[in-house]
Amino acid sequence: MTAPSVPADLRHPALAAADPELAALVAAEERLQADTLRLIPSENYVSAAVLEASGTVLQNKYSEGYPGKRYYEGQQVIDQVETLTAERAKGLFGMDHANVQPYSGSPANLAVYLAFIEPGDTVLGMSLPMGGHLTHGWGVSATGTWFNGVQYGVRRDTGRVDLDEVRDLALAERPKLIFCGGTAVPREIDFAGFASIAREVGAVLVADIAHIAGLIAGGAHPSPAPHVDVVSTTTHKTLRGPRGAMLLSRAEHARAIDRAVFPGLQGGPHNQTTAAIGVALREAATPDFRSYARDVVANARTLGEELAARGFDLVSGGTDNHLLLIDLTAKDVPGKVAAKALDRAGIVVNHNSVPYDTRKPFDPSGIRIGTPALTSRGIPASEMATVAEWITRVVEAAGRGDESTVSEVRSEVKALMDGYPAPGLPVS
Ligand SMILES: *Cc1c(COP(=O)(O)O)cnc(C)c1O
Repeated sequence: MTAPSVPADLRHPALAAADPELAALVAAEERLQADTLRLIPSENYVSAAVLEASGTVLQNKYSEGYPGKRYYEGQQVIDQVETLTAERAKGLFGMDHANVQPYSGSPANLAVYLAFIEPGDTVLGMSLPMGGHLTHGWGVSATGTWFNGVQYGVRRDTGRVDLDEVRDLALAERPKLIFCGGTAVPREIDFAGFASIAREVGAVLVADIAHIAGLIAGGAHPSPAPHVDVVSTTTHKTLRGPRGAMLLSRAEHARAIDRAVFPGLQGGPHNQTTAAIGVALREAATPDFRSYARDVVANARTLGEELAARGFDLVSGGTDNHLLLIDLTAKDVPGKVAAKALDRAGIVVNHNSVPYDTRKPFDPSGIRIGTPALTSRGIPASEMATVAEWITRVVEAAGRGDESTVSEVRSEVKALMDGYPAPGLPVS
C-alpha cells in the first residue's frame, strides 16, 4: 500500500518560503531516504513524533546545569523535560542514574575519561580495525593521544573476542578504564565476562552500547546493567531517537559523571534533543518496540544466511545482532568499489575494515551492513532473499564493470521501497 505524497513545500511551508535552496535540499534528502534501501547499521528512521519533538521551541532555551541547579532562570518547563527523560532512561535500562545531556556518543565517551582517569593513564578498548570505536583509545583520537590506549581484537580463527586474551592484556597493562562494545561487532557482548576481568584489575568498566541500545531496550540482547559501572550510548542508532547520547551509571558514579559532562566538557544541553530522546524512550518501552528489536535481529540472521548461501564470507560466520561484516576478498571486489556500486543501485552500505585486513583503512576489504532501518519500514524476513540476491548481483556486476545490472537493481529496489513507506517521510 502506498500513502499519498505530500509536497515538500506543504511539509515544511515556512522553510520553503524563507529558504527555497535549503528546502529543496531537505526535500531531496527525504526522497533519497524514501527511495533507497538503507543498510548502514548505525542509521535508522525516527518516528514522526521524534522528528516533531526535535523541531520545537525547546531549541530557544539555555539551561546550563541540571534540573533544580541551573545557571539560568526560566527553567520551569525544561527541568521537567530533562527529569522525565532521565527517569525514562533509568527505567528502560535499569540503571541508578542517567545523564541525558551529552551532545553525541564521542563527547559522552570523553566525559567518561574525564570522570574516572587522568591523562597518561591506561585505557583498554577494542581496536578500531577489529570493530571498536575511535573513542576507545585508538591512536588518531584524542582518547588515544591523551591516554595510553591498549587494544584488544578478535581471534583470527573465530572472528570473536577472546576473553582469555583480554584478561591477559588487562593483567599485563593494568588499565584503569575498560570499554566493551564496538561499532562493527556482529556478536553478543559478554558483559559478565568483562566485568569479572575489570574487578580483577580494579578497573572501571564501561559498556558502550551505541549500536545495540535498541536491541537491549527491546530485550533482543542481554543487558549490561547488572554488570557494569557505566553505560554509554548514542540515542540515534537502533534506539531510533534523535542524534544524541546518554551516560547511565551506578549511583556511586552519578556525581563524577554529571560533573564531567557539565561543567567538565559541555555548556548548555540541547533541550529539543532531550525532549526527542524522551519520546524515543517512551516508544522503546512499548510491546511494538520489543517486536521491532526481535525483527531487526531476525532480519539480520536471515540476510546473513542468504548471503552466506551466495558465497559471501561473513566475519565470525554470522550475527547475533543487527549487523553483518562481510569480507569481500573471496569475491575479488574491494569494499569501496562494492559500496559505491551498491549506492548507485540504491542500496546504501559503508565500506569497512575486516579483522586482520591486508588492505588500508580508506580502501578496505569489507562492507558493513545492518537491518535497523529496513526493519523500521516493516520489511519482513521473507524479503531478505531478494535483498541478498540484489547485493550478489551488484557486487558481482561491480567486479566486471557491468552498469546495466546496477540500474536494473535500482528500479527493483525503488519498487520494493514504494511498498514499505518509511516513518516520517513522504512517499511517491
Ligand atoms: C556511533 C558510536 C559512537 C559515537 O557516536 P557519535 O554520536 O558518532 O559521536 C561511540 N561508540 C560506538 C560504539 C559507536 O558505535
